[in-house]
Amino acid sequence: MLFYPREWHTACMPIMSIVLLDIMASVLDILIVGGGFSGTTIAAHLLRRATGLSVGILDRGGQPGRGLAYSSPHRFHLLNVPAGNMSALPDDSEHFLRWAQRNYDASIQGRSFLPRSLYGDYVSGVLEQAIADGNQDRFRWLQDEALSLQQRNGQLAVQRKSGPEVLTRAVVLAIGNFPPADPRVPGLGPGSALYLPFAWANNVLEDLPAHGSILLIGAGLTSVDLIMALRSKNFKGSIRVLSRKGLLPQRYRAAEPWPPSGTRRRPVLRVDCYG
Ligand SMILES: Cc1cc2nc3c(=O)[nH]c(=O)nc-3n(C[C@H](O)[C@H](O)[C@H](O)COP(=O)(O)OP(=O)(O)OC[C@H]3O[C@@H](n4cnc5c(N)ncnc54)[C@H](O)[C@@H]3O)c2cc1C
Repeated sequence: MLFYPREWHTACMPIMSIVLLDIMASVLDILIVGGGFSGTTIAAHLLRRATGLSVGILDRGGQPGRGLAYSSPHRFHLLNVPAGNMSALPDDSEHFLRWAQRNYDASIQGRSFLPRSLYGDYVSGVLEQAIADGNQDRFRWLQDEALSLQQRNGQLAVQRKSGPEVLTRAVVLAIGNFPPADPRVPGLGPGSALYLPFAWANNVLEDLPAHGSILLIGAGLTSVDLIMALRSKNFKGSIRVLSRKGLLPQRYRAAEPWPPSGTRRRPVLRVDCYG
């Protein structure tokens, strides 16, 4: 989501390079709130392409590119997309694959599923490279929590929890997904010691007894990740999974190209949709 005062792009662009130093001292061109995957890659692309713009990231944490998905400490928490399809650069589809072969394991192939934490290192590396390519003066990382956003005198002001407000000409909100809603079950609420509302909260499995029984609500990839984490903690109790459809995530299977080679293609003449 991108916010900018309406008059900005016409009024400011021509003088951007001349006033850059002054802008860095007081007003950023673009502030990205959230430095997970989206915020970090947006910043890297802006630095690579938009010469002259000053870019800042405001994030609660200290490390770019992690966010919820890629900050898991467990190496068995894997990407759900193979390495060959995870490049952060649309003009270089094997960028992540080559990076992983260089930095992790030379035998990695395009169809390998790699740890999510490794992908966080990669995304962070993409930004580091963009900064190192002569953009040190144009980038700022601000570790803090954004509280609110106001438009004032043709600029935007972002209020923070700890530091002074940040003035900027445009804001990108890249704050990720919000936690899920609580199920409406009597006794299961945020106050209940038996209920953990958010699977990705810090140290969520920390205080669980080694024996006991756990019910996971939902049978998707997050449940699989939690089961793996429970196993790694040597959890000896029972785990039950509640699913609306009774299905578990399926393995990737090798797929043949379609139509099979040698088959004559017939053009689709018309597709009707009935809803
Ligand atoms: C557990 C999990 C696994 C996933 N695995 C995959 C996968 O394998 N492959 C795939 O393609 N996709 C995966 N996804 C989808 C994934 O969410 C997206 O691909 C992508 O990481 C989302 O990036 P994002 O920047 O929108 O959010 P996030 O990466 O979550 O980043 C949001 C950032 O905003 C910051 N933030 C939020 N509010 C504020 C505030 N008020 N002030 C300051 N900072 C703030 C947070 O600290 C965080 O760093 C997964 C998602 C999850 C939850």
